[in-house]
Amino acid sequence: MSAEDLSTPQTRTVSPTDTSRRQFLGHAGAGLLGLAGTTLAQSLAPTEKPSTPPEERQPLPPNERVGWAVVGLGALALGQLLPALRETKKSKLVALVSGSPEKARRVADQNGVDPKNIYSYQTFDQIRDNPEIQVVYIVLPNGLHAEYSVRASQAGKHVMSEKPMATSPEEAQQMIDAAKAADRKLMVAYRAQFEPRHVEAARLTRARVLGNPRLLIAELVQNQGDPNQWRQNLKLAGGGSLVDVGLYPLNFSRFVLGEEPIQVSAQIYSDVSDPRFREVEDRVAFTMQFPSGVMAQCLSGYSAHRSSRFRVLSERGWTDLDPAFSYEGNQLRIGRRVGQEEGSDLRTVENKNQFALEIDHLSEAILENKVVKTPGEEGLRDHRIMRAIYQSAREQRPISLQSGG
Ligand code: NAD
Repeated sequence: MSAEDLSTPQTRTVSPTDTSRRQFLGHAGAGLLGLAGTTLAQSLAPTEKPSTPPEERQPLPPNERVGWAVVGLGALALGQLLPALRETKKSKLVALVSGSPEKARRVADQNGVDPKNIYSYQTFDQIRDNPEIQVVYIVLPNGLHAEYSVRASQAGKHVMSEKPMATSPEEAQQMIDAAKAADRKLMVAYRAQFEPRHVEAARLTRARVLGNPRLLIAELVQNQGDPNQWRQNLKLAGGGSLVDVGLYPLNFSRFVLGEEPIQVSAQIYSDVSDPRFREVEDRVAFTMQFPSGVMAQCLSGYSAHRSSRFRVLSERGWTDLDPAFSYEGNQLRIGRRVGQEEGSDLRTVENKNQFALEIDHLSEAILENKVVKTPGEEGLRDHRIMRAIYQSAREQRPISLQSGG
């Protein structure tokens, strides 16, 4: 493909003076412009302009939007999801489910929710009688996802479950079965699959724009505080850093490569004298082997300073997200040779709220009766892989995933 075929206004050239964004491989000076004056970014652009994505279409009037109930008014719901719902074009917040009546009243007031649409965990099943509610978004501790997802399906509602969708493959299967029996949709909130930079990284990798991918390196690590929070409780969390943050490198590797791992091997280390790790694990290092030969090396941890990176190493260049999994400010950088020079280029991708995109994705699937991109089966696959990762660490051997794993 010639460079001219690929140019697009979406890309940004890194200025030679932009040292904060400049990165060279073995060169300290020139190198970002190729011999023909082509930037790295231009040479990677898509050949065709895609049709208008759904999120760019006109917002629907309120009476045509899909009605959402949010279950659990914790950090994610209040900090990200309710603000994101206000940015959606096909969705609207119509109900809240909370254990705290005062909090629910305050949040309802702030978000224009009718007080008659406030439910407690005890009155949750009454959502069945409320036609305004079409989707239930479960934002509870992981150990409660399966119960509320099944109850929501049985009440005739579509479900969005936060990640991890459950605490075991068996629970994930129960959620899938309940949604099928009710003929309702079940989607897992894998926001990274909607983040525009991530979608672009996947496009570049799957289209082999930099040649065949060979290796992948990914990590998501954070330093947990309170040892008494539900994330440190095995029953409520279902596991430690792997199920909470390690799931991002795992799921995103599968998404970017567009293939399923055939083998995993893993090591786990926890300092059990640390009260945070009495029940759940701290450090996890796992490797996934893919049928194409790609090896993905992933890390998750609960006791080191926050770090979030994802890098695909391909034959003729690399694709790097750093930070990779933040709510905002993720950066996509491409490194490759252009002409005789090695260099790297920050790729400009329009900022969009990944939570709003994933919420509208489910609303659109309901309105147009389409299949969702991240259904329950997607979460079930991850749960099977995570179970194999734990098994590999326990038994100190690689685990094959080929027999239905
Ligand atoms: P949180 O602790 O801030 O909120 C949990 C909510 O559940 C609180 O309102 C709490 O009152 C309620 N709750 C009900 N029953 C409970 C019980 N028995 N024990 C503890 N809390 C109970 O947690 P969070 O960070 O908002 O996480 C909620 C879910 O969202 C989790 O599944 C988590 O993995 C997921 N999450 C996803 C992202 C993402 O980027 N997609 C980010 C953070 C959290």
